[in-house]
Amino acid sequence: MKVRTLPPGKKNAILAPHVVIVGAGASIAAYNHWGKVGRPLPSMQNLIDVLELRKEIESRGYSVDKMDFEAFYDDLATSNSDVELKKIIEQRTYEYFSGLELPNRPTIYDYLVLSLRNKDLIASFNWDPFLLQAYRRNGDKGVGSLPGIAFLHGNVLVGVCHADKVCGLNGTCCSKCCTNFVSSQLLYPVKHKDYASDPFISSEWDRLRDCLSRAYFLTIFGYGAPKTDVEARRLMLEVWQENHHLELAQVEIIDIKPRDELEATWNEFFIKQHYMVRTDVTKGYLFQHPRRSCDALAAATLMNKPWQDNPFPVFGSLTELRDWVTPLIEEEARLDDLAEPFSGKPLAPNVEAVL
Ligand SMILES: [Zn+2]
Repeated sequence: MKVRTLPPGKKNAILAPHVVIVGAGASIAAYNHWGKVGRPLPSMQNLIDVLELRKEIESRGYSVDKMDFEAFYDDLATSNSDVELKKIIEQRTYEYFSGLELPNRPTIYDYLVLSLRNKDLIASFNWDPFLLQAYRRNGDKGVGSLPGIAFLHGNVLVGVCHADKVCGLNGTCCSKCCTNFVSSQLLYPVKHKDYASDPFISSEWDRLRDCLSRAYFLTIFGYGAPKTDVEARRLMLEVWQENHHLELAQVEIIDIKPRDELEATWNEFFIKQHYMVRTDVTKGYLFQHPRRSCDALAAATLMNKPWQDNPFPVFGSLTELRDWVTPLIEEEARLDDLAEPFSGKPLAPNVEAVL
């Protein structure tokens, strides 16, 4: 029997993590939101043409039309039938994703990384560099207290030193031994993914599982749990179901798929009716209560004293966005240093247009 335990907290503040799982749909939403400027973002459906792989694949006698790329790649990887083609696909994928770049203005990823605190975690299944680019450009400017991030299928921007178990930006060097990082392994869409043998991937999963076992809020943004991710889903569900305050926890699904389809995919993660489904991340809890999602949820559901919404306004520049978030970060410092409770009120002057 599950023990009903309140999530850890103090002074109007919840200290249990908010975990955000990010899938391909999140990058597509971000790309569409910024107006599709820059290189197109490939999906599994159009990857062959966007990465210009058609010629190589067809010249080996495979028919590309109506091809299910995931099934094709899985077959290629498990049968070892064409090692050279497999290598070409992997290299092209790596190079293409490495060249993707955020535009120089606030994107959904910038809002997302600033909407969470350092007790929280964003775990991404995406190879693209958008999340890490957003993380770096907001963290680099002195905005403290960003969430942890984990890359569950590897990432083109992450490099590792296996000897020292250190990771950092690909292209830089290890802080311990000064040798150049090697690229982190990307996990490709095969049915039986091995999350244990690569030390970097395995440690990323450990971080996610640790946070999920303590989380009070779980948001799944644009991640459809495809059939090839059976193992990923099992690894998440296993620890989620052991979570001590599961009975009070909340799940939020952000996806454009039909509601009944999403409910069927995720119902094992739901607790009673403690879940919400949204099609637009800007209407989600994190964008309505930036940096206070768990605290605002607890005020509404445990204390029956809902806080006023504090939605992100629309900003034209990254500086404006960071300036708006600063009073919230200062309030967090006062909680830590002076044990001053969260006010539960919007702290920045409201700007009329909200996202
Ligand atoms: Zn090293």
